[in-house]
Amino acid sequence: MLKVHSRCDLSCDHCYVYQHADQTWRGRPVRMSTATVRVAARRIAEHAREHALPVVHVVLHGGEPLLLGAAGLREVLAELRAAITPWARLDLRMQTNGVLLDDELCRLLVDEDVRVGVSFDGDRAANDRHRVFAHGGSSHDHVRRALALLRRPEHRASYAGILCTVDVRNDPDRVYEALLAESPPRVDLLLPHATWDNPPPRPGPGSTPYADWLGRVHRRWVDEGRPMSIRLFEALRPGGGGTEAFGLAPADVLVIEADGSWEQVDSLKTAYHGAAGTGFDVFGQSVDEAARHPGVAVRQDGVDGLCATCRACPVVDRCGGGLYAHRWRTGSGFDNPSVYCADLLRLVDSVDAYPGPARQPPAAAPADDLLDDLATGHGSTATLALLAATQLSITRALLVACRDRAGSTVAWELLVHLDQTAPEAVRAVLEHPFVRPWLVHRLDSSARTAVDPLPALAVAAALRAGVAASVHVPVRADAITLPTLGGLVLPGLGESAEVTVRQEGFRVRGGTAERTVLLDPVELSAGWRPTRDVPVPGGWLLIEDGDPYRDCYGQPVAPRLTDPAARALGRTVAEAWRVVRRDVPAHAVALDGGLRAVVPLTPDPARPLRSATARHAFGAVAVTPHPDPETMAVLLVHEWQHAKLGAALDLYDLVEPGQGTRIRVPWRPDPRPPEGVLQGVYAHLAVTQVWQSRAASIGGDASAHADRYLGWTRDGVDALLASRSLTAAGERFVGQLRHALGETRVGSR
Ligand code: SF4
Ligand code: SF4
Repeated sequence: MLKVHSRCDLSCDHCYVYQHADQTWRGRPVRMSTATVRVAARRIAEHAREHALPVVHVVLHGGEPLLLGAAGLREVLAELRAAITPWARLDLRMQTNGVLLDDELCRLLVDEDVRVGVSFDGDRAANDRHRVFAHGGSSHDHVRRALALLRRPEHRASYAGILCTVDVRNDPDRVYEALLAESPPRVDLLLPHATWDNPPPRPGPGSTPYADWLGRVHRRWVDEGRPMSIRLFEALRPGGGGTEAFGLAPADVLVIEADGSWEQVDSLKTAYHGAAGTGFDVFGQSVDEAARHPGVAVRQDGVDGLCATCRACPVVDRCGGGLYAHRWRTGSGFDNPSVYCADLLRLVDSVDAYPGPARQPPAAAPADDLLDDLATGHGSTATLALLAATQLSITRALLVACRDRAGSTVAWELLVHLDQTAPEAVRAVLEHPFVRPWLVHRLDSSARTAVDPLPALAVAAALRAGVAASVHVPVRADAITLPTLGGLVLPGLGESAEVTVRQEGFRVRGGTAERTVLLDPVELSAGWRPTRDVPVPGGWLLIEDGDPYRDCYGQPVAPRLTDPAARALGRTVAEAWRVVRRDVPAHAVALDGGLRAVVPLTPDPARPLRSATARHAFGAVAVTPHPDPETMAVLLVHEWQHAKLGAALDLYDLVEPGQGTRIRVPWRPDPRPPEGVLQGVYAHLAVTQVWQSRAASIGGDASAHADRYLGWTRDGVDALLASRSLTAAGERFVGQLRHALGETRVGSR
């Protein structure tokens, strides 16, 4: 973190830089000189070179960094780039109050690939309670204007999010609404800095006002389908990865003050005068030397670096003793729980107690936010709804392409009619995961003879809608398949059969064969193999073992299961779903939002844990019918990550096309193409979170699994970022995955 300017144009009364115990700012130069920037950049570059770091994160901070002006900023950025980029990718961030942000600065930040966090405390009353000019005037309009600038499509790539300091006297709903209205990619909610010597204000009768306030925001956020990323809540969930303020991940921030001094995290300024100091500076000491300072080293020790109370605490893996600065008490130093301990305990309980309803309202997220939301590691209900909607659009486009090839037919006319009169029936059929593979197969120029899907789709939709119709349906291997309903195997049907749809079922006549199948009431007709739905916590799930186009996984799919085997698989998957909800509730929400079918793969004793996803078959995963729900839960989460990312890749280019790059990864012996590494990283991130959650409750092997997947994910992220094979959107996405791992810490203020 570079303190490039040590003064500010606002005068916030909760500012730890100017208003708290440390007053070292008074003796610092107003801005970091060019000579100091140059030496600081060389120190960072030296560290990146010696440790072969693929990426370095630099946060421009203050005071107010925009007081440098465009020319000053350009100069700082040029020095950093010149020194560091020969050795590592440079991930640049800035934390600002936004007051001075204008078009020119926004263009500069976008051109220089700097992502900007803006400090903003909510609605006018909340923001202006503290965030005011020296004359007492409001900053609210200035900051909102800055946020509006960053939201513009041409600047949005530089919009990192909002940092909001909580004041429990503010109305939590109004603050939440004000933050949401700014469409931030991410919100950081910060507890106001306090210590045991200077405890936080606790107005009102309750003993845990901060937990109560945040709990209210959490419930609202969950009820509304997590419409934006709120880092605090994501970090606090089991396996959430933590932040600088929570969890046990090692601290990885060093501060370079405006005079070149090395300092520890600057929130320590709240503890006592000089608390953040190390006695070192960039002119005399390297990063490694500064990082060996005892105050930095103790924060690398995880649970061993905490006080006895925290070490014995049941939620220590999630809370991590709170922010280091908040543990300060004269006499015992930092060897205390957080001054917010009671609130933190209660907040963890509140987050656990409110995982949210099984299904959220399927309001779609704005497309701009989709990648940012997926980069949290899971994706909200709104994002899943948007992915499903775009997948449906692709299927519809393929359907039209099939019509264009064959011309208008009775089946097409029937589909169009049903789409107008019974759209839910058409939608249910087109959302079936294996309709798109069928359409793709039909359109593949090398498969001209493939069966025309439109008649069967029209019949399935008519049956679902209860609309009488008669359509000639092509027959494949004595069978017709009606997606979402089942298949009829009837020897002698010939190449085409007339299917007559009635209210209660349908009659098939073709070749030398004829059969009536009653669906209402259901009657077991010879040759009719109905699909089988099983109840799962998110609704109903299809055990798809009949559709011929499920054979799209590059692995042998199992033939139709017996009824007991299908029921057993359904029970295992349902139990696995509950395990996912227990371990990683945010991933269960993502499953709820889109997983519709499970395809059993043929068991292979040599590889009993196979699973797969197919890019064209959104909504389905293929798994070996493993009987253990704990194992099945990992397979589901892993594969659903691939499905979500595949759907996102249908919308965005995250990897530069046609480069032929191959990347070495720890989980495979062979070098992989960038998209394969991206898929691996995204899946392993989720699996890491599952094992971290289990490690927190059972330890043992789970901890080892968590460490292994964390290492794989981190190495994969770094390898991707170093490969220079990603597009700008891809770099941003992968950089955010690193945040989801809790690997980077953007400073607070
Ligand atoms: S909190 Fe930020 S904006 Fe406010 S005075 Fe401090 S540095 Fe300036
Ligand atoms: S809740 Fe309290 S005791 Fe538990 S880890 Fe956090 S600060 Fe320590």
